[in-house]
Amino acid sequence: MIDSRPTRAKISLTALEHNFRVAKRLAGSARVMAIVKAEAYGHGLVCMAKEFSRLGADYLGVSFLEEGITLREEGITLPILVMGGLVDEQIGRYLDFNLTITVSSVWKAVHVDEVAGKRGVKASIHLKIDTGMGRVGQNWETSNVLLGSLSRLKNLRIEGIYTHFASSDSDDLTFTRTQLERFHNVLQSAHRLGIPFELVHAANSGALVQLGEEARFDMVRPGILLYGYTPAEWLAEKVDLKPVMSLLTKAVFVKKPSAGTPIGYNSTWHSPGDRWIATLPIGYGDGFPRRAGNRASVLFGGRRCPIIGNVSMDQITIDAGDEAWLGGEALLWGQNSSGSLSIWELARSIDAIPYELLCGLTGRVPRVYLV
Ligand SMILES: *Cc1c(COP(=O)(O)O)cnc(C)c1O
Repeated sequence: MIDSRPTRAKISLTALEHNFRVAKRLAGSARVMAIVKAEAYGHGLVCMAKEFSRLGADYLGVSFLEEGITLREEGITLPILVMGGLVDEQIGRYLDFNLTITVSSVWKAVHVDEVAGKRGVKASIHLKIDTGMGRVGQNWETSNVLLGSLSRLKNLRIEGIYTHFASSDSDDLTFTRTQLERFHNVLQSAHRLGIPFELVHAANSGALVQLGEEARFDMVRPGILLYGYTPAEWLAEKVDLKPVMSLLTKAVFVKKPSAGTPIGYNSTWHSPGDRWIATLPIGYGDGFPRRAGNRASVLFGGRRCPIIGNVSMDQITIDAGDEAWLGGEALLWGQNSSGSLSIWELARSIDAIPYELLCGLTGRVPRVYLV
């Protein structure tokens, strides 16, 4: 039904491969866990996971159980780490689907051990240490409590340990270095207790670009970088990435209304009378942000045209200037034959970030995969 919809997100597998190679190079000898949470940042969970498998990723990272199950049901065999907080009632299902569990407290470790023990299996776990992100994880200062409890828990395969940086996209890396130091302290304690880890990991895209070897350990966890963006715009010049997604639509209605004609909900824009207005079939129901109304622009026929009036659920209107034509292609972000429009421009105009815009695209926008 949606196949012929003029609104679509084109996903370039060539760009994806390019970015993966960049990540590999930055990773050096460390392994690469490709982060595919939130529908692979809006690019399509299963398709992206299959691409990363094909390209040689070592691990996949998702946020919650169901994302991991979807990948297993689609035949993905790579190891998968579920990074979000563990819901205790779900432990059995992690084991059913051979998903690696993030353990962030003694209580959770004991509980996972119990469930695994009852089944006579070993649960694969990574310990999560909170060194300053402040969401989930055993606090670095009290990590000995967790580390010290592990020798009693015989049904755990303790494969990894990790932490997550809060500000690795900042030009001030002081706090990131503090987090690294705290993590090193925890690793030393683990070493003293004789707990071996096959996979120590910390680096997200920001740390991968900015810190290099210092933060690589055994594995790195890039997300946004794989999809063609740095986590902050100022970092873009430091690494050669290709945006993977282009968001496109086509004019379905054009007119040249007389002066004073109001456009859209609440009549927030009135025609000066001498301009062509094109209606584009994309709105906040597709995940195109409502805040973009009267703020952002699109590229129409290679020309920058402001979005005028409020963004509706299914439509936006643009000031196309001297001419507009039915079926004319409009680029919301990314690139097409008429030029390119950085997602950063839209992000900046509405105080958003590319992460939010990409993964905010809803399921009714067809994803079209191209080499
Ligand atoms: C999302 C996430 C990443 C990837 O972050 P990017 O900034 O997209 O590279 C890495 N690790 C964890 C724990 C995450 O939640």
